Amino acid sequence: MPYSYDDQNIFAKILRGEIPNNTVIETDHTLAFADIHPQAPTHVLVIPKGAYVTYEHFAAEASDAEILDFTRTVAKICAGAGITQDNGARYISNAGPHGVQEVPHFHLHILAGRTMGRMVA
Ligand code: C5P
Repeated sequence: MPYSYDDQNIFAKILRGEIPNNTVIETDHTLAFADIHPQAPTHVLVIPKGAYVTYEHFAAEASDAEILDFTRTVAKICAGAGITQDNGARYISNAGPHGVQEVPHFHLHILAGRTMGRMVA
């Protein structure tokens, strides 16, 4: 089934500059900004600039350039935040009703700076 993208979602408004954000990194295809309700000392949201609803939508339909840009931006954020193999982080992407996704624009949460709770469904 094709994905339906709601261009009134809050991250679409951030991308259009209609709502402010605390930008960490911006590239040609990707924007990363601090989550307004941080759940850890580092809590960054990484979003593609393209209109993708979920991770699987992005993974299926984004161009190679978008995917590479997104992935390398994650690496830069991790380096900037001091995330290493020794301390680690958690990467989360909620998708759809079962994933309890609030904002229907694909985003990756990067959480770091403390030991996380054990994952629960
Ligand atoms: O559940 P979901 O992964 O969709 O969560 C959306 C996230 O977007 C929340 O962590 C919320 O704090 C964040 N958010 C934000 N800035 C906004 C609106 C939501 O950082 N303006």
